[in-house]
Amino acid sequence: MNISDLGWNDFFRQNFEAFESDDMIPARVCREYKNIYHVVSEAGELTAEVSGRFRHEALSRADFPAVGDWVAITPRSGETRATIHKRLPRQSGFSRKAVLSGGNPDSGGKTDEQVLAANVDTVFLVSGLDGNYNIRRIERYLTVAWDSGAAPVVVLNKADICPDIEAVVDEIDKIAIGVPVLAVSAARDEGMDKIAEHIPAGKTAAFLGSSGVGKSTIINRLLGEERLKTSEVRADDQRGRHTTTHRELLLLPSGGIVIDTPGLREIQLWDDEAGLSRTFADIEELAERCRFRDCRHENEPGCAVREALENGSLDQSRFQNYLKMQKEFKHLKIRKDVKTQRETYRAFDKRIRRVLKEKNELKKKGLL
Ligand code: GDP
Ligand code: ZN
Repeated sequence: MNISDLGWNDFFRQNFEAFESDDMIPARVCREYKNIYHVVSEAGELTAEVSGRFRHEALSRADFPAVGDWVAITPRSGETRATIHKRLPRQSGFSRKAVLSGGNPDSGGKTDEQVLAANVDTVFLVSGLDGNYNIRRIERYLTVAWDSGAAPVVVLNKADICPDIEAVVDEIDKIAIGVPVLAVSAARDEGMDKIAEHIPAGKTAAFLGSSGVGKSTIINRLLGEERLKTSEVRADDQRGRHTTTHRELLLLPSGGIVIDTPGLREIQLWDDEAGLSRTFADIEELAERCRFRDCRHENEPGCAVREALENGSLDQSRFQNYLKMQKEFKHLKIRKDVKTQRETYRAFDKRIRRVLKEKNELKKKGLL
């Protein structure tokens, strides 16, 4: 196994330099289950756990390794097990908000960030050209993609059962400026090469999209074998049955890498507002032309947004989607701030305790 086949690059190499001594080797996380990690390295596939020190130093759940992360490990000699000492910085990552015990986020429950996949280069936003297609959902996925740091590609699957693909592609082109839009049919094995072009050797891709849009079928096509279980679409609502797959990092025969984790499949929003601004750049541009800096686009005079809505150059439902997402972000941000404060305090507390302990030890030895 050569690690460049697993996506190793200069960025990770530079970040690993500090650990090169100490018998540590780099490995990539390909699965995680209840704090047990499966990692792949030049020493093969190993089962690993984080070291006590790693656990001690981690401040939040997001600090722990996720599928796709590169970690510094020491294999235990003669065993197929290893210890994870460090997680290398991420080039990109998909997170979701998770509500911690204590329950309802709306009544002050805690939130934490859970990283679903790390170091993804290309993210395919998959929709089905059957009843599943929804431009507003694609907008939401685009926001998630921009926030992650991965480059988005819109995939419209099931082209075989859509009478007017061109109209749909046109509509998406308008909201996803500069983003490739691919109409394909996994069932007919059409357009899979167009998808593969976006996963060159050594690069990592992930597939986002609701259940039943054909993600497993596409990945199986790329793998050249029926590795993932696909589901039959129920006639009533065109959604697939829930299929179970475990977290995995898959190597394609072409040299590309695919991360397929169940959490990614129905991702929720977490990150900051940068992605939102980028997805709705047209609305933000309009807003800049409003007479008042703090215009709420309700009934203020000289509102460029209202004007665009009235003359039809801005779509009403697009604007509603924008408002809805803005609200969601604001809500999350408040909770995140509280959490950051708590974490800073905890880190400080840990340090103080450590210093006191050292001081006590010195005292005991009569050195202080
Ligand atoms: P996933 O939940 O996104 O992984 O979706 P699956 O890959 O399990 O596919 C759901 C259903 O859609 C299955 O019955 C597939 O056979 C079907 N399907 C996948 N691709 C296509 C396609 O290109 N055209 C049509 N008509 N059906 C497809
Ligand atoms: Zn306005």
